[in-house]
Amino acid sequence: MATERSPELEQLIAGYRRFREHGWTPRLERWQQLKDGQEPQVMIIACSDSRVDPAQIFDTDPGEMFVVRNVAAMVPPFETNPGHHGVSAALEFAVQVLKVKEIVVMGHGMCGGCKAALTQSLKGAEPGEGGFVADWIGLLDEAREPVVHEHGTEGRTAERAMEQAAVKVSLQNLRTFPCVRSKERSGELKLRGAFFAISDGVLHVLDEASGAFEPVA
Ligand SMILES: [Zn+2]
Repeated sequence: MATERSPELEQLIAGYRRFREHGWTPRLERWQQLKDGQEPQVMIIACSDSRVDPAQIFDTDPGEMFVVRNVAAMVPPFETNPGHHGVSAALEFAVQVLKVKEIVVMGHGMCGGCKAALTQSLKGAEPGEGGFVADWIGLLDEAREPVVHEHGTEGRTAERAMEQAAVKVSLQNLRTFPCVRSKERSGELKLRGAFFAISDGVLHVLDEASGAFEPVA
């Protein structure tokens, strides 16, 4: 029996055809340059949220950014316990093999993962029923405390504070990786926090000295 294409797949294939016409064929030279390997200078850690695609926000070409996206743009701390460490594997590859010069952690406005961390709405859920997310955003439990203390658990002020605190947690966790720490110290690698507010479309960059996210002019 022939499998019928769903409307969703049809839409993807229509997009693929546009890509072939506008992104592939006219740019064959660029694809040729990339076919044997990549040399991105930047790693981006962003949220899986469908509204914040780093390649779109930074208007990059293929081959320019090594991207990890996950719930709430989190980096876990350096851990060697059993399990499958997907973010750590990508980080290790980017830093040690690709030798990226910059890692940008980009949080975003209206982040569902950060909201769940703030409200703890998935606490106690079973794996597959919200438990994986609950465990993952448990990475934010400590950072949540001062946010809740200052802003409570509801409303955009509290949510935005949680979203920006999450970026700082990921930066802090990045620095628990020995390879990241040593390369940052030697100047081979820079770490940046960023925040893209989809309500206004403005990119903010973290000033780590002051802790403030400043809009990019
Ligand atoms: Zn998000």
